[in-house]
Amino acid sequence: MSADIQHIVRPVVTRFAPSPTGRLHIGHAWSALMAMDMARTGGGVLRLRIEDIDGVRSRPEHVAGIIEDLRWLGVEWDGEVMFQSARLALYDAALDRLKADGLVYPCFCTRAEIAAEIAASGSAPHGSGGPLYPGTCRLLSDQERAERIDAHEPHCWRLDMARAVARAGPLSWQDMDRGTITAHPERAGDVILARKDAPTSYHLAATVDDAEMGITHVLRGDDLLSATDIHRLLQALLGLPSPLYRHHLLLADAQGKRLAKRTGGIALADLREQGVNPAHLREDLRAERFPVGIRLLSA
Ligand code: GLU
Repeated sequence: MSADIQHIVRPVVTRFAPSPTGRLHIGHAWSALMAMDMARTGGGVLRLRIEDIDGVRSRPEHVAGIIEDLRWLGVEWDGEVMFQSARLALYDAALDRLKADGLVYPCFCTRAEIAAEIAASGSAPHGSGGPLYPGTCRLLSDQERAERIDAHEPHCWRLDMARAVARAGPLSWQDMDRGTITAHPERAGDVILARKDAPTSYHLAATVDDAEMGITHVLRGDDLLSATDIHRLLQALLGLPSPLYRHHLLLADAQGKRLAKRTGGIALADLREQGVNPAHLREDLRAERFPVGIRLLSA
């Protein structure tokens, strides 16, 4: 069976995957509703995955708030709520595999050292998130790495992007709206796969989970388009299937600034307090009628 046909005959398994770093806003509500509708029209399943690997910014009260907000809005998910913080062993195993394949290396640099290195080099290559990591720790010897790890020097683990891309060969992924997209993960440089303060990263945890949960369709904001290139590469390196993707536009406020969890006034909790009827809100969001001052941010 070809990959395309598999996508057509398999029931939809999708997910909503918020990070519990604040309350949900109207953009999350729109995204969660689209995910639920995608699951329901395909006779499929919507999972709720809490991306709480960031031990400092993730808060239990935000988890409770997210669940309360989704219930109020009428978003129904299937099965238990999943917590990434309870799945660290899975991400560890994936990282171990990449270590065994020589595709990741420990990086001991501090932010200040990286900034100084970039400033000194004058012409650092840039990715979508700013200047790329200059690769300092890629050049360390195995012996130095081992000694510094033994000495408990704080370190993250970075993907050796050039090696990884050479190992995987040319890659593409399927976007439900835009068709076949050629992946350019090299634009992101040596991304972090396990952070200094967390045993994994968004990229690794999301890729491993999407595969392990049997996710067939990933729906998320178009701010994560370049992340999908990285996830496609990790899928290839780890022998994981690649789901179909859809990237929706983000919402912006009257000033044209992208909505963030901290932006006041459009949190679902506030709308609920103002007495907004969730059935009407669902109807409006499905018709892309947003509250006054909120609009789609064109890509
Ligand atoms: N946790 C991410 C966020 O809240 C979403 C990641 C994803 O859907 O892959 O932005």
